[in-house]
Amino acid sequence: MVRRVSILGATGSVGQNTIDLIARAPGEYEVVALTGASNIAQLAEDARRLNAQVAVTADAARLEDLRAALAGSGVQAAAGQAALEEAASRPADWVMSAIVGAAGLKPGLCALEQGAVLALANKESLVCAGALILSTARRHDTHLLPVDSEHSAVFQGLVGEDMATVERIIITASGGAFRDWPLEALEHATLAEASSHPNWDMGQRITIDSASMFNKALELIETKEYFGVRPDQIETVIHPESLIHAIVGFVDGGLMAHVGPPDMRHAIGYALHYPERRDLPVARLDLPQIAQLTFREPDLRRYPALRLARAVMERGGLSGAVFNAAKERALDAFIAGHIGFLEMAEIVEEVLTRFDAETGRIDAEMTLDNVMQTDHLARERADQVMAERAG
Ligand code: NAD
Ligand code: MG
Repeated sequence: MVRRVSILGATGSVGQNTIDLIARAPGEYEVVALTGASNIAQLAEDARRLNAQVAVTADAARLEDLRAALAGSGVQAAAGQAALEEAASRPADWVMSAIVGAAGLKPGLCALEQGAVLALANKESLVCAGALILSTARRHDTHLLPVDSEHSAVFQGLVGEDMATVERIIITASGGAFRDWPLEALEHATLAEASSHPNWDMGQRITIDSASMFNKALELIETKEYFGVRPDQIETVIHPESLIHAIVGFVDGGLMAHVGPPDMRHAIGYALHYPERRDLPVARLDLPQIAQLTFREPDLRRYPALRLARAVMERGGLSGAVFNAAKERALDAFIAGHIGFLEMAEIVEEVLTRFDAETGRIDAEMTLDNVMQTDHLARERADQVMAERAG
């Protein structure tokens, strides 16, 4: 049976890996929508090659460019936020959510509302609005499949298991670009240095978030939301080889570790073919050659984001939306060269503190409107904090 698939964030790192898998078995899929933002040439090329129904750029000003690039192809061109949501709402069986940031939340909800299975790379959705996204899936009789490598690993470790027997979930972390840097040097870390990952090839934002471990912080919150475990059941360990992606610990003391090469096509392919397992074009590990796997405790002075993630998990409510929004603004400012690497965590912490004290909003009901408004206000607060520090 031909499956209808859409890819939100098709031009990004996860989106391109998803297209790689789909393009290998063209007869099996009907591509409904591909979406991107600024990379019009890539979007149009893939939409033509996969014969998509519609290609959408999130950037409304690029509609004419996209139209021109798709001329004569039969693929519809559309642009802007409303078009993005319309495309995500088109009937499909499986939708990849691979937009980066909170911008992925609304389109992901649209996909769930039309009943699609949502393959979720966009961890920010769960961090900002975990309960909302899970209840939306239930209401429309569908479900999410994790695509983040750690969460796919946990998911695979839980097949056939009773959640009541899960004692702990251990999320591994590579430690990012600066894991071996002296602490004093971090203050002066540059954008170029933060933008290279020792093991994974990913988009720029998540790569910098790996160096600061804001990515791991998001993933700890994602674990709590997706698997419904308590914060004290979630651990993280530095594992520089990035070969064990996560470990599930059970009440009998057994640990189930998921081991595989650092290639997102494994987790994407698992979500694409679930519940089947299919041959995937990823490297096979040669264990004698790898020889050893190592682990160490994360240093909270090096990675303050991990401490903040704990606070957010304990606080609950809309604090995840505040955390993510402040992080996105601080990351924008670091990329723009306005603040230093270590300032990102300081700013996020300050926004979390102020938000709780000033607005009492964190305990508001988790509706889409409240989440979006909180996201907006937290960005404003982050900008205020940065302006105060600069002045
Ligand atoms: P990326 O930056 O390579 O791609 C992001 C995609 O989102 C692009 O298609 C871009 O056009 C689109 N986009 C950006 N801003 C947008 C906006 N405002 N509105 C609509 N579309 C927008 O990112 P990535 O590395 O592929 O990551 C995508 C998501 O997957 C993120 O949530 C990330 O945390 C998660 N993730 C990525 C990896 C990885 O290997 N790259 C692994 C695990 C999880
Ligand atoms: Mg991950």
